[in-house]
Amino acid sequence: MFASISGPRRPSPPRAARHARRLAVLATAAVALAATGLAVAATPSSAAACNGYVGLTFDDGPTGSTNALLSVLRANNVRATMFNVGQNVQGNPSAARAQVDAGMWVANHSWNHAHMTSMSQSQMQSDLSQTNSAIQSATGVRPQLFRPPYGETNSTLQSVASSLGLRQVIWDVDSQDWNGASVSQIVSNASRLQDGQVILMHDGIQNTRDAIPQIMANLNSRSLCPGMISPSTGRAVAPDGTPPPTTAPPTGSPTTPPPGGGCTATATFPNVWGDRYNTSVTVQGASNWTVVVAVTAPQRISTTWNGTPSWDSTGYVMTMRSNGSGNTFGFTTMMNGNSSARPQIRSCTTG
Ligand SMILES: [Zn+2]
Repeated sequence: MFASISGPRRPSPPRAARHARRLAVLATAAVALAATGLAVAATPSSAAACNGYVGLTFDDGPTGSTNALLSVLRANNVRATMFNVGQNVQGNPSAARAQVDAGMWVANHSWNHAHMTSMSQSQMQSDLSQTNSAIQSATGVRPQLFRPPYGETNSTLQSVASSLGLRQVIWDVDSQDWNGASVSQIVSNASRLQDGQVILMHDGIQNTRDAIPQIMANLNSRSLCPGMISPSTGRAVAPDGTPPPTTAPPTGSPTTPPPGGGCTATATFPNVWGDRYNTSVTVQGASNWTVVVAVTAPQRISTTWNGTPSWDSTGYVMTMRSNGSGNTFGFTTMMNGNSSARPQIRSCTTG
């Protein structure tokens, strides 16, 4: 069974087109600010049937078919995260309340699905605040998670979200339901989900609702359970908030300060996904600093924050200079098939 490519199943062709063009950005958008590492569970005994958790997310609601979606979710014992659009909540507060009544987590997906990276900081602030208020007033729940429309983000938006107590969450797996994917394609995409990961789906799409029983059958066969998304790590965890047993993220070792360098840079890797990972570098000994970092080909740095980067001619060596955002900068690296290499810090110098 094939979905028509030419249109009617697409919920919004312009949005679909945007999505297509933004896939690279989506893949690189990182949860940057709260790069505090994964918590390690003290007791691995809870929820014996679950070897891990995944976050099922439904964007752009509430819609006219939210109740139909909730019926399917309840029938399959699914708790999911609903990234709601503020004006939709304002227009249909009872549907938002029904989400919470059905055991779903409600989260912030902006006021009207605008391209937020072109907003000023105060516009971002007002957009997210207004959405939080609408959700809180409809449901009594204050959102703790935020997904930017189209997955488009930047450091200003992440900082604004963080200041409002919102953890940015993008996704690991795109169901492609917005792009006319058939039920079997949606099920197949969801079958790539691994422990801790998050999948993008949408409220208001029939194929998505029809795929849920098969998605759940696949997850059950792998002992993966639907979980909540942790506001502290952005990863899927058990519904009570207990993170699943996990290995501690690898930690970096300090570089030897080069002679006369005057500072030390230490790298950690707080977030690792299937195709990319984040590096967080903390500088000690200087507030004005320059750090040179090299990645191993074919890995590529795709996004940076809290510093001003420049690149050598190969594109694999980045020079990051302080820009007043403090002593910790970060970046996302696409693995491009090499999942084991990690960046090397070549030098840390003052000024
Ligand atoms: Zn959306």
